[in-house]
Amino acid sequence: MIQTMTPSSRIPVPPDGKARSLPMRPSKPPQRLRLSPTAFAKLLFFRDAGDCEVGGFGISAAEDLLYLEDVELVRQTCDVASVVFDDEAVADYFDRQVDAGRKVSQVGRIWVHTHPGSCPQPSAQDEETFARVFGKTDWSVMFILARDGQNYARLEFHVGPGGSLILPVEVDYEKPFPASDHAAWHKAYLANVQEIQWPRLLGEGISRDTVPHPELAEWPDFWDEVWEDRLFDSCQEESEGDFDDDDL
Ligand SMILES: [Zn+2]
Repeated sequence: MIQTMTPSSRIPVPPDGKARSLPMRPSKPPQRLRLSPTAFAKLLFFRDAGDCEVGGFGISAAEDLLYLEDVELVRQTCDVASVVFDDEAVADYFDRQVDAGRKVSQVGRIWVHTHPGSCPQPSAQDEETFARVFGKTDWSVMFILARDGQNYARLEFHVGPGGSLILPVEVDYEKPFPASDHAAWHKAYLANVQEIQWPRLLGEGISRDTVPHPELAEWPDFWDEVWEDRLFDSCQEESEGDFDDDDL
């Protein structure tokens, strides 16, 4: 966070009129979204398990809400550019977490999802979902992990005047963390993620003009949205950060 100097925070000048140098004080470190290595590895696994966006909730440490200990999927339908959670599954998820003794602020403020391409910028659909689902909370974070380690995290405040802040993201190795469990993660993926298969065509260099299946040509709205709005327009700018997938 950038702190600006206001008139009331001028450096005081001693009576002799000569300013003395003040002792150096470490500035407050910027807010960061930190993931345990396990949470990060799990999200990478989900990202690479299929060809579509995969979404879930971040589970924060009780005393450190911007530190994700884990991520959890809920039942969802997804394609290459969107995720739709099943309402009942979301309700079940919250019941389970509260029964496990966690607070809602630990399990329902950080929306994580993956992008199958290398662009981590939120799509128009992502923004709509974030505003609709999380807009009534006091604060929330949208975190997107794309291919090649590109990522995007934005913290939003919904109280008072509100505001938002792009967060740097890092994997935090300092605390103890559990081992990876690919078998359990694969099981969770299969149990929760229902992929809509037809957008696979997007990854095969096929455009609106070379549609091999006549039925796809009848979906002009789909092509407009995916090609022009969701995938490319939002990624003209530089992405906000990147991880080296080989870090783990
Ligand atoms: Zn997205």
